[in-house]
Parts: sequence; C-alpha cells; structure tokens
Amino acid sequence: MRKPLVVGNWKMNGTLEETLKLLTELKHKLPANGACDVAVSPPFTALYTAQVALHETMLLLAGQNMHWETDGAFTGEVSGTFLKDVGCSFVLLGHSERRRLFGETDEGVNKKALAALALELTPIICVGETWEQREAGKTEAVLEAQIKKGLSGIPMNDLGGLVVAYEPVWAIGTGKTAKPDDVASALHFIRNLVAKAYDAPTSSALRVLYGGSVTPETAKELAGVKDLDGFLVGGASLSSDKFLKIIAAWEN
Ligand code: PEP
Repeated sequence: MRKPLVVGNWKMNGTLEETLKLLTELKHKLPANGACDVAVSPPFTALYTAQVALHETMLLLAGQNMHWETDGAFTGEVSGTFLKDVGCSFVLLGHSERRRLFGETDEGVNKKALAALALELTPIICVGETWEQREAGKTEAVLEAQIKKGLSGIPMNDLGGLVVAYEPVWAIGTGKTAKPDDVASALHFIRNLVAKAYDAPTSSALRVLYGGSVTPETAKELAGVKDLDGFLVGGASLSSDKFLKIIAAWEN
C-alpha cells in the first residue's frame, strides 16, 4: 500500500518570519490521523528555522535542489549531506524551473538522485512535457527520456523509495490544471515504463504525484485518479488554508 504524499514547493518564497507564520498555522491544523504524508519545501535559508518549528510534528521537510557531491569547492551549492543535516526527508530534483531556467539536465538529475539515495534522502524526480511538445504528440517520448535517463543505474531495491512527480510544464504556475484523464494517461505510461524497465511490483511500489496549478477546487477530482499518490503543490502551498484543503482531498 502506497501512502499518499502532498508536498508544498515554496520556490523562492519564505523569509524566516513568513516561514514561522505559515508553519505555525499548518502544524496546528494538520489532521492528526496521518492518513497522508505531508512535506514542505522552503528555501534553503529557512530550512533550519523550519526544522526547529516542526520538531515533534508529522510535517516533513524537502530541499528544492542539491548538488551530487557531498562537500567541496562548489561555491553557491548545497549538498544532500547538508539537507539531511537540517532534517530533510526529501529533495526535489529536475523541477521544470530548474531545467528551463538553470540548465538542469537529465544526466544531472540522475547523478543527484543516486547521491540522494546514498544518503537516504528520498528524491522526488519531476518530469513533464511543454505545451509545444504535447501539441506535437511528443508527451510520451519526453516522459520516457526523462524517466529512463533520470532513473539510470538506480537499483531495483531503491526504486520503491523514490517519488516521481508528473508536472506538465504548461500547467505549472499558469492556472491551467491538467484534466484528470491527461493525468491518468501520463501516470499509466510512467508505471508501464517502470514495470518494463524493472518489474510490476517495483512499479506499483513507486509513488507518483501530479503537480501543476493544483487548487482546493481541483484537488478532489484529481485525487480520484486511479493509482495517483498525491500532489506537488506550488502557489497554493503558500496559503495554509488552501494547502490544508488540498491535503484534505487525500484524507479519507
Ligand atoms: C510546482 O512548482 O511544482 C508547481 C506545481 O507549481 P504550481 O502549483 O504553482 O503550478
């Protein structure tokens, strides 16, 4: 049985004061039954503050990116070792903003995923097509390349501990949420691909999330997509009220 997971990607938002305010609201209102894993991903600078604020709560932490080396002469980078040190359980890898704006490649995502797993940090590997790729009928080819390269060399035993987030680029931050049918077919394709590359039990152990303009209004219907395991939420995760409503879509 896969436990649903909802992750809030705060992107480049969250001063220490804002982090404390949002986490205080969340931790007091989060359902206590733990039916769903919930993680937040503040900027690196707020992770320590978040770790202290979330002590002895069910809320988990995720880094927004990492370097594949553990330490060394890499000015401006943050390693998985540091993310672990500050209490992260997850790390987002290959978010489309990093691919599009900062030259992140599938090869880099793969190196980071391997490094994260070695540190027992769960990678959340983001994949998804642009609108042009979708219009050109290339969605599956794009997903296949991103997944095959991103997962390359990851042993079967580690795969069940990994998370894939299907995030169509055209849906991120645009207000254009993908239709449940589109999510279902991408999900089906991803699980089949993993089943072929590994095996069926490994594929069904993998948690697959959807991300792209999830709101309290769209969450309920999307949460009904068969075999979907949760959401990666950007904009709406900056409001405790909206984020809690999105989490509630998985609480039954
Ligand atoms: C994201 O940044 O991963 C994301 C899904 O953003 P939004 O929910 O704002 O579309």
